[in-house]
Amino acid sequence: MITYQSIDLALSDMMAPESVQVPCTTHFNTYHITPDTNDTFLYSSTNGHIQNVCQHDMECHSYTVIELDCPPAGSSGSGTGSSSSGSSDPSNETTSGGGDNNNGSNTDPNDPNDPDIVTAPLIIKKAPCESNKRLEIDDVFKQKMTILKDRASSQSFETLFTVRTGAPSAVTSITDNFDYQHFQGSISKPKVAWNGTGITSVADFKGIIHSHFSDLLPVLSVGDLVDMYYIMKNNAAVTNDFFYGLVNSSGTAYILQIQDRAAFVAFGDRYLSTEGKRFKFTQNQYESRYNIKEGNSNSDNEKGFVKMLSKINSGLQVFKSTDTTYSDYKKLNYINSEVVESDCN
Ligand SMILES: [Zn+2]
Repeated sequence: MITYQSIDLALSDMMAPESVQVPCTTHFNTYHITPDTNDTFLYSSTNGHIQNVCQHDMECHSYTVIELDCPPAGSSGSGTGSSSSGSSDPSNETTSGGGDNNNGSNTDPNDPNDPDIVTAPLIIKKAPCESNKRLEIDDVFKQKMTILKDRASSQSFETLFTVRTGAPSAVTSITDNFDYQHFQGSISKPKVAWNGTGITSVADFKGIIHSHFSDLLPVLSVGDLVDMYYIMKNNAAVTNDFFYGLVNSSGTAYILQIQDRAAFVAFGDRYLSTEGKRFKFTQNQYESRYNIKEGNSNSDNEKGFVKMLSKINSGLQVFKSTDTTYSDYKKLNYINSEVVESDCN
């Protein structure tokens, strides 16, 4: 299916000025938008050569830009130049209309502020694994996770711990790396956030862990990603081993680790940095594209979440507990349309 949509494109990007012929010439370019990153690629042009084919298992959205290029009236014998306002701004004159079933989420081609996403090369990075392994042998951390498990299954509000390094002089050991602060919601205000509670510096934050009771998503919410994004974007002192964890009402833990901080911040800039973006991201990505919704099965939500992280160049890796002692985690990967667990090595 081809839909039509205007784009912002300089004519000189497409054709040499000397190729313009009088009295009027028509040019078209067909583009496709990748379903995961919303990048735009030239698909074919007037010469009919296919430049790039859609390389995704989901269908790429396509649109065609048609340009009618006419010389100014009187400059040639045709006298038909008024049909076009000139070609310097194709966005004003390209054909437009038709439905885009993507609802235009963050992909408005006319928005010059919409940043390009550069896909990161596939590099296996050990840092997220090492960061997560440290949690597997920290006895106090595991106790906190167990508290969250109990709260998630017994209470209808969230509990949250900030995980910090504490005072520089504090003695740490591999079984007790962190200091914790405890926060919880209430029946009338079930969600809880650490910010707004008097914490003025996050410089020593190492992570956040919290519970989701059964009415909430079994995976991390958009709000959780927003929290993580602001911490990582605005606080250079927070190190790249910062993690964001969750225990859901089934006792399953998911821990997000940073694989590529710059990519994560770019993801947040693109999708999470304003109320409007968050609304669109929730509707168009979480719910529509990746089928992450309250009421779905846990496995469907997990699959959608892992797929979203991998397809959207989030810069994150997600680890899942293998039992409710929180002594072991597997990394979740999205391969061939399935969630595949892997060990850290
Ligand atoms: Zn949450």
